[in-house]
Amino acid sequence: MVSRAGSGRAETSETLKRVVIVGGGFGGINCARELAGRRDIQVSLIDRRNYHLFQPLLYQVAMAGLSPADIASPIRSLFSGSRNVRVVQAEVSGVDLERRQVKTAVGAFDYDYAVLASGAQHAYFGNEQWEDHAPGLKSLEQATEIRRRVLTAFERAECESDPMQRRALLTFAVIGGGPTGVELAGAIGEMTRFTLARDFHNIDPKLTRIVLIEAGPRILPSFEPELASRAARELEQLGV
Ligand SMILES: Cc1cc2nc3c(=O)[nH]c(=O)nc-3n(C[C@H](O)[C@H](O)[C@H](O)COP(=O)(O)OP(=O)(O)OC[C@H]3O[C@@H](n4cnc5c(N)ncnc54)[C@H](O)[C@@H]3O)c2cc1C
Repeated sequence: MVSRAGSGRAETSETLKRVVIVGGGFGGINCARELAGRRDIQVSLIDRRNYHLFQPLLYQVAMAGLSPADIASPIRSLFSGSRNVRVVQAEVSGVDLERRQVKTAVGAFDYDYAVLASGAQHAYFGNEQWEDHAPGLKSLEQATEIRRRVLTAFERAECESDPMQRRALLTFAVIGGGPTGVELAGAIGEMTRFTLARDFHNIDPKLTRIVLIEAGPRILPSFEPELASRAARELEQLGV
């Protein structure tokens, strides 16, 4: 039996298995793709957003290299040809293990199998108060907020006559020397040296200070030391 809120249609059958997938990220989308077209399986793919986000290129949106639409695809269109995949935009609030139901703001979804692919949150290592000052980079909202702050800093620096104040406006700190921090710091370097250098006449964007802060002994700890050293050298050439 399928919950009323979940469907409105009666796809009931003794043999039909109901799979509820929470999350339309890489995990959820790939799982639904594997099950698409199966006549014995009814999939409900639930995400709070109506689009799948290609997170690896978020840093390009944050640096104005790409626009948000370039890295977001409507989940619904990905499965428009799959009759057995139902896409639902809803916030999942919990799972009732005894009743085998996924709970959402638009009702409960019965399942035979539930797949939780709701992704990960960024961490501030116990310093959540930092979030107001330094957004994470996991969503389009955060990427466009970072872009707004970086571009606004350049605009303000362009009109600033006090050199100290201008230097402060052109100082960017990126915390975390993992792949995302390295990409972001490098992208700020490239943007200031190549793109903005042309557009701002009263400031020299090459004077921008980009500081990449990492608590461990080196950046990119999950990579070979040789690759990490090469990345560090290349970042330095970009002014990081
Ligand atoms: C900036 C950045 C760069 C990256 N670069 C790379 C890279 O170069 N190479 C690489 O391999 N990996 C990279 N990654 C990691 C990769 O993007 C993640 O490992 C991958 O996106 C995880 O997929 P997922 O399906 O587990 O979660 P996600 O892609 O995070 O998807 C989770 C989905 O669940 C939804 N959701 C969450 N909670 C709820 C809820 N309560 N109700 C409804 N929906 C919910 C979200 O809206 C989201 O759509 C990068 C990540 C980031 C942030």
